[in-house]
Amino acid sequence: MVIPIPIYVVVFVFGLVFGSFFNVCIHRWPQEEKTDHEWIKTPSNCPKCRAPIRWYDNIPLIGWLRLGGKCRDCKAPIHWRYPAVELGNALLWTGSLYLVTTYGLSNVAPENIGIAHIIFVIFLASIWLIGMVTDFEHTLIPDEVWLPNLIAAVVFMFAAAPYTISQGWLSSLYGLLMFAGFIAMFWFFGGMGFGDVLVALGFGIIFGWPLSNVALFLGILSGGIVAIPLLIYVRLVQKKKGRAEMPFGPWLFLGCYVSLFFGTAIKDWYLSTFLPSGTGAGAVPAAILHQLLDLYLAAVGLIS
Ligand SMILES: [Zn+2]
Repeated sequence: MVIPIPIYVVVFVFGLVFGSFFNVCIHRWPQEEKTDHEWIKTPSNCPKCRAPIRWYDNIPLIGWLRLGGKCRDCKAPIHWRYPAVELGNALLWTGSLYLVTTYGLSNVAPENIGIAHIIFVIFLASIWLIGMVTDFEHTLIPDEVWLPNLIAAVVFMFAAAPYTISQGWLSSLYGLLMFAGFIAMFWFFGGMGFGDVLVALGFGIIFGWPLSNVALFLGILSGGIVAIPLLIYVRLVQKKKGRAEMPFGPWLFLGCYVSLFFGTAIKDWYLSTFLPSGTGAGAVPAAILHQLLDLYLAAVGLIS
């Protein structure tokens, strides 16, 4: 399916507008857990001076840029998260449209992609973006993220092969037990929030077995690549003691997003590169990776 350029432009603009709305969600949803409801009801006011934001200052991205990132009335800085989410969502929507229509989804060939797949991917990308940012800012994944994620996963599961990522309900069940079980283990021993477990229910159903392994592995890998240097920096450079905390949810969302499109390709590449032979230039790293994979699969086997 080839999408004409004007459609991409329209999707980009809608992405900006919805991004602006998602900023309100990101701001509002985690607050519902708290007792202070006063300024949730007035999202279009400056949080500092309470001056109402004029409509022309509320235009996504452009409003923030024209104001130079400061409130028109009190000059209080407006967080860069607002334009970042707007632009990020616009890029995410256009990028997702391109990826799903060009590469299809894992286990769904491009020629089998329909409008329902496009809606599914844009919907997931949107709630995953909201989940990512709320987890970064509040170390919390709101109900409004994990619940729609779970519902979309169950609905999508009923689309039969070759139109769905998981290969039937049994594949989804194994995926759910593995994905949510693995995260639940980390939640139990500390290190992950219960929101991560709840969101993993949907992830497991979407990817099923064996692609849940790819999504989880990518999440852990990307989290580790960032977390380990960050921990070293915090400990050695900033000389902070005690527990350094980093939410894990954002990396799970990232691993899942990549796996939506490239899960099968990554799995096939991994198996053909590292598993068939133990000779050649890549033998040593391959052997180490193989060992890690064995350990990982053993851990997975223990809980699923
Ligand atoms: Zn102000």
